[in-house]
Amino acid sequence: MGKRMCKLIKEDFHETQFKEFVSLVNHPKFVCRKCGHVANEDDILCKPRKMKVKHKEKNKNKES
Ligand SMILES: [Zn+2]
Repeated sequence: MGKRMCKLIKEDFHETQFKEFVSLVNHPKFVCRKCGHVANEDDILCKPRKMKVKHKEKNKNKES
């Protein structure tokens, strides 16, 4: 894929090829600082920034 997510979305990629779109964003690690889109890989965002992905296992409470 040579195109960037940010541009693809303008072309309705997320509607016309929904499954492929989901496969690119279902485990997002990067966010675009320009558009706010998220993606699994940074090379499909125009201004990618790595996100800190928190795992909620730390917040396990036995008693609340
Ligand atoms: Zn972007």
